[in-house]
Parts: sequence; structure tokens; C-alpha cells
Amino acid sequence: MLKKRKIGKVLKMVSRVIPVAPFDLVIFGGTGDLARRKILPGLFRRYCAGQIGNQTHIIGAARNGMDSAEYQEFVRKAIAEFDDDEGCDMGKLDDFLGLMSYVTLDARGDTGWNTLAGMLTSDRIRAFYFSVGPGLFGDLATRLHKHDMARSDSRIVVEKPFGRDLQSARALNKVLAEHFDETQIYRIDHYLGKETVQNLMAVRFGNMLFEPLWNSQYVDHIQITVAESVGVGTRGGYYDKSGAMRDMVQNHLMQLLCLIAMEPPAKFDPDAVRDEKLKVIRALDPVEMDEIVRGQYQGDATHPSYRDQVEDHESTTETFVALRAHISNWRWSGTPFYLRTGKRLRTRASEIAVVFKDAPHSIFEEDDRHHSNILTIRLQPNEGIELGVTIKEPGPGGMRLIDVPLDMTFAEALGPDKADFPDAYERLIMDVIRGNQTLFMRGDEVEAAWAWTDPIIAQWQESEAAPLGYASGSSGPDDALMLMHRDGRRWREIKP
Ligand code: NAP
Repeated sequence: MLKKRKIGKVLKMVSRVIPVAPFDLVIFGGTGDLARRKILPGLFRRYCAGQIGNQTHIIGAARNGMDSAEYQEFVRKAIAEFDDDEGCDMGKLDDFLGLMSYVTLDARGDTGWNTLAGMLTSDRIRAFYFSVGPGLFGDLATRLHKHDMARSDSRIVVEKPFGRDLQSARALNKVLAEHFDETQIYRIDHYLGKETVQNLMAVRFGNMLFEPLWNSQYVDHIQITVAESVGVGTRGGYYDKSGAMRDMVQNHLMQLLCLIAMEPPAKFDPDAVRDEKLKVIRALDPVEMDEIVRGQYQGDATHPSYRDQVEDHESTTETFVALRAHISNWRWSGTPFYLRTGKRLRTRASEIAVVFKDAPHSIFEEDDRHHSNILTIRLQPNEGIELGVTIKEPGPGGMRLIDVPLDMTFAEALGPDKADFPDAYERLIMDVIRGNQTLFMRGDEVEAAWAWTDPIIAQWQESEAAPLGYASGSSGPDDALMLMHRDGRRWREIKP
């Protein structure tokens, strides 16, 4: 096995930063929460890393009237507040701010559009980031076209949520398609930009070891957990119209499910990968109502309940979902996929666990335990991969067996330098500039995901049943535990 220091050296070799060509990036919603917390600090980190050069032009756009100098101060404050990367040289901040301009613009009116058109460079890659509410995506696409800014090599980046059901997603795809080709549309799911998610593909398709076992003959079941410890906070207005199914399952968990279950694409090419993901979604069986549990967090002495945090104190919006999914194809027939996500749970943790079947026969007489190997892919915190294996307990006491983890926490194995681990948004924005759509959702994928999700939501609405309450800081409603107990399985503990 490579020693840590040696692996660190290998990483330095492979993680060299390849600068992108100069570009113009317009951030519609450049004063919003997402821009402040993720997009602007992420761009600064890429600048610090030398990936973005001084020819680049970044333009913030929103209705709030301010000039470019004021916007630069706004960006400075956002970076001071949200850039937690100590690897960044703050001495470069002024140079970075020099790349920034601002335009006052209304997505729904004509204000500002001609000014914006005049600010763009003619011979550069142009990317337009739609970091505004989803109700404005269509307006922005239409006005970019009307004001002649959408060239054949321009790209648009569209934030989530992409629709709230199949019908609205189709309508949105249609309006974007009127002005942009599918190759120009980058629908963001930031989960796909996470280091581990891409490593999932590397582990599956870069090694001979796992792929022969990656099917229902050897895999007992797969668990996907995305647990948050926080509640809705100030996002209650948005969340109450959405819920965990729309906000998390239809996009993030579905994407993870696709990557874990898909067939090997012929090559690592955007459409080859997305074709395989789409086949997984289309092979999903409809979920029966006894295969899904929805919950809503309750309050306690120190935390308000969900209903206390939203306007509608009788709200039946779910903050937790656990479900069992089946993929009807040759590879996975008979292997259930258990998905679970929720707010205000015990801790913040996201992982995929591939639970292999027990060995068919134990040759060790004193050993009556189950020995299922579990491959765990941790997305957060401590991104990494762990394989549970059975070994002999050291010592003279006979053949006693114990399970130990073979752990590869990336930060430990590959060196602590955080600059080597770009945040998901940084990586995805750089992919937009490079024109690589592999980690972005295609329109037909999004529609297929809604087509699977819609009937579940419709049944909930028909039944008018309220979600089950669960205690803040717990693992969700007891019925979610029962969902697996009935099958003779159990959820992995949600651990920090
Ligand atoms: P936000 O804080 O409400 O910001 C919205 C931005 O859009 C502001 O800059 C606002 O500035 C601008 N805006 C609003 N109406 C406009 C108009 N008519 N013309 C031009 N600009 C307009 O929203 P956000 O949280 O940043 O979210 C932006 C998008 O990202 C949403 O689609 C959201 O669902 C998605 N998203 C956000 C997060 C997050 O963590 N925040 C996470 C995932 C996805 P003015 O009011 O001054 O115009």
C-alpha cells in the first residue's frame, strides 16, 4: 500500500491546476444569498489557485441600484464572511475584485440589458449564471436572446429547483430550448460536483475489483442517506411549497442513485454518462405507499417545530422521507435501494452504503456473526471511502473474527491542503467554462425524475394524511426504521 506521504506526492502530480481560457461570466442574482455564500467565494478560490486569469470579467446583475465600486465592496464582504479557505492569499483579493463589474438590471423589464450587452467582450466564452428564483429563468433566457447576447457558444447555468413537477419542468425545458441548444444548458445539482461523487465513478469504473460484484448476485441492498442537522431556518417560505421529496429526493438522491446503479458508459463523455443515468431512472418501479415514510420534525425545549417556522401552522409538508426503490433491470432486480433524507436529524452526514451479501458459508465454527462487507462512500463530512472487512482478531485466543474498516478519508490520505479540494460550485463553474456537461443534468433526466416523483406526491395529496412527527435530533420517525426491519435489515447509524 502507498504510504500517506507518497500518495500526497501522487496527488500533487495529478491535481495541478489547468487554467481556463479568459471568459465573461454574468451572475444574474449577483447580490443574492447563493452568490454571496458560494459563487463569489468559489470564484475567488479559483482565482487564488491560478485557474482564473486576469483577463476574466465577472459581472453581477440584479435590480438593486449600485455601481461597480459598490459591488466590489459587496463581494469583498461576502468573501470575508464566507471564504473559509485559509489557503487563499488575501493579498490577491484586490486584483480579483478588479475583475468585477455590476449592472442594474431587471429580468422582467428592459432596464439594464443594453448596458449589459455593451459590457460583454466579443471574442470570449460567455456564461450566464441564473442565480435567481426559478420564476425568472424563462425571462432571462428570452431577454438574452432578444438583446442578442446568446451566441452559439454561450452557456447558461440554471439553478435548482428545475420545475416543481413534470409539467413545469417540461414547460421550462421548452422555453429554454427556444433560445438555447441542450449543449448550452447547464442544470446544476451541486451534489454532482462533490469530490466523492466523482470518485464513485473512478472507484467503480477505474478498478477491476468492484464491478464484477456490483449487481444483485452479490449486493444485498444499498442505502443512501442525506441527513441534515439544521431545520428550515429562514427558508421556510420556499421550503413549505417544496418539501423533502422535491427539494432533495427528486434531484440530489436521485442523482446519487443513478451514479451507483448505472451501467458502465462506453466512455467518460457527457452524453454517454447521462444516457446511462437516464436508463436507471426509467427502470425505477413506481413506489408503493407502504414503501415510503414521510415525517416532519417536532420542536423541543431548545428548537422550534417545523410548523412554528413556517407561516402555515397546520402545514403537512414533509421534512423527512425514507423509501424503498426497486430498479427493474438485469443488474439490480431483487436488490432494494433504501433512500433517506431529512432535516433536524441527529447530525449532518451524507453517505452511500453498498451492503454486500453474507458469505454463503462460514468455515469458522465459533463464528455465528454476519460478515457482510460494506463499502461506504462518505460525501460529508470527511469525504472518503471505507470498506469494512473481516479479519482475525490479533492475539493467541484462537480464530476470533472482527470487522475493521479500510478507511480512505481523502483529507488524510491525500494531504490536508484544502486548495486541492475545490468546493462543488467551484468545480462546476470551471466545467461550465471548459464546456464539460458531464456533471450537469440533461433535460430528459430531469423530466424522467419528475415522472417518477409526481405520483408519490399526488398520492400524499390525495390521502391528506399528515406526515409523522419525529423528534429533533433523532433519526426520523420510527416507521422509517420499520421500513427496513420488515425486510430483515437496518439503517446504518447516522454518525457525525
Ligand atoms: P435570493 O437570496 O433571494 O437572491 C435572489 C437574487 O435575484 C438577488 O440578487 C435579487 O436581487 C435578484 N433578483 C430578484 N428579482 C430579480 C429581477 N426581477 N431581475 C433581476 N434580478 C432579480 O436567492 P438565492 O438564495 O441566492 O437563490 C438563487 C437561486 O439559487 C434560486 O433559484 C434558488 O432556488 C437557488 N439555490 C439557492 C441556494 C442557496 O443556498 N441560497 C441553494 C441551492 C439553490 P434584487 O432583488 O436586487 O433584484
